[in-house]
Amino acid sequence: MTRVSSYLNWTTTPPGYVEKASRYVKSSMRQGRDDEVPEGPAGADRDSGDSLFITQKPVPEAVRTGIRTRYSQWAKPLSPRDFEESDENKESSDSDDGESQSGKVQRRKKNVLPKFSFPFLEEKKPELLPVHNKRLHSYLVGGFFECVRLLRQGCQTKKDVESSLPTVDMDGEHISPLSDIASLEEARRVAIFGGTHGNEMSGVTLVNLWVKNGAEIQRKGVETKPFITNPKAVEKCARYVDTDLNRAFTPENLSAPRGDNQPYEVQRAQEINRIFGPKGSPDAYDVIFDLHNTTSNMGCTLILESSKDHFNLQMMNYIKKAIAPSSCLVLLNEHPLLKYSTSRSIAKHPVGLEVGPQPQGVLRSNIFEAMRVILKHALDFIELFNEGMEFPSCTVKVFRVLERIDYPRDANGNIIAMVHPNLQDCDWEPLNPGDPMFQTFDGKTIRFQGSGTVYPTFINEAAYYEKQQAFVTTRRESLVASSIRKV
Ligand SMILES: [Zn+2]
Repeated sequence: MTRVSSYLNWTTTPPGYVEKASRYVKSSMRQGRDDEVPEGPAGADRDSGDSLFITQKPVPEAVRTGIRTRYSQWAKPLSPRDFEESDENKESSDSDDGESQSGKVQRRKKNVLPKFSFPFLEEKKPELLPVHNKRLHSYLVGGFFECVRLLRQGCQTKKDVESSLPTVDMDGEHISPLSDIASLEEARRVAIFGGTHGNEMSGVTLVNLWVKNGAEIQRKGVETKPFITNPKAVEKCARYVDTDLNRAFTPENLSAPRGDNQPYEVQRAQEINRIFGPKGSPDAYDVIFDLHNTTSNMGCTLILESSKDHFNLQMMNYIKKAIAPSSCLVLLNEHPLLKYSTSRSIAKHPVGLEVGPQPQGVLRSNIFEAMRVILKHALDFIELFNEGMEFPSCTVKVFRVLERIDYPRDANGNIIAMVHPNLQDCDWEPLNPGDPMFQTFDGKTIRFQGSGTVYPTFINEAAYYEKQQAFVTTRRESLVASSIRKV
């Protein structure tokens, strides 16, 4: 709570109200947990006030086998009704409860700010002064009070209190008021990258297919360009020629003098930046999808680089709903040290897509189709957005990258243990302190020594042996996506 309260900076702060609100929230949380939240492995890491806004209820297990299931390539795009009236939306922990969503829509139509009222604030004047009410909506602190309202509402309706909370990351960097509506530019220019790694065959094959005939990826009001990013690596069916293209889009590389003495991928990064960028400029492409395969058992995974990109968060929500009951998980990499300079990072809205398991250089039909269907829904979303559809506020469950775990090694850097059979293929499943993590060549078990439950992914990815990475750990979060509509 201390981090939350640090956002409060009123000149007329009512005495003790932060403390009162905090107690209110905590007591509501307790009630909600006792009544509603099942015990689970995530319980161990759900404790402090700092994690108040983090939804840590177990999420449905990633269904890797889901990629074998019934994708309907020609399914219709979702309609506004799908977001506002469906039973699933009302009950799903992926979103706010239906009542609050329709309430927000109503408020937006009238264009009047809802008034916050707190009986515990002052008995005679439970409603805030208009100036304070407005300020609540203007400042991040609005999210805090919205949280209080939702908690109370959740308790009254006996709904899952925690999942109805607006959430922020553990660092407490931001609290988004749910009443925000972000007006965003249309996404007119979209690129689909394949072959960023030349031996990841689904993206290479799909992009080559679409270069020959792009009818499938065309949408009204959207210019979609399929593009092979590393043609030399594709030709060799190798990850890269000189260096990893998907780490090459650094400011240093992109501003380096042009010349043949540069590594091939650096030259290529500069060229791609000229066509689709410049990175960070208004001229950059609106959306870039970068298609990858993994040897890990990750299923369909969308990768985001920012928790504040509400356009992308809304897109994730749309795709998740569109492909249900199949699953598609979202990996968020904002780690200051583990985030890298991806090919897609030159776009305003970068989206990575990892689908696996698939060996390098191999095409599997189920993986191919899964990737194709996700792209279809993503493009549908962009078309609907450009047509003026408003997407109401929602929450999106993500897995945030925490830490890179290397294989155990000897003094010479040689690997001395393998991923433990209990962990192999268990991407996204909880790993608790004391759980087996590696197995030495003579059969000894090395256990996870962390302080709480984590969710490993990219487990035993073939391409990451050279990067000293056996897997990455993540934690689950629910992020709030603001309502969005086009300008
Ligand atoms: Zn890749």
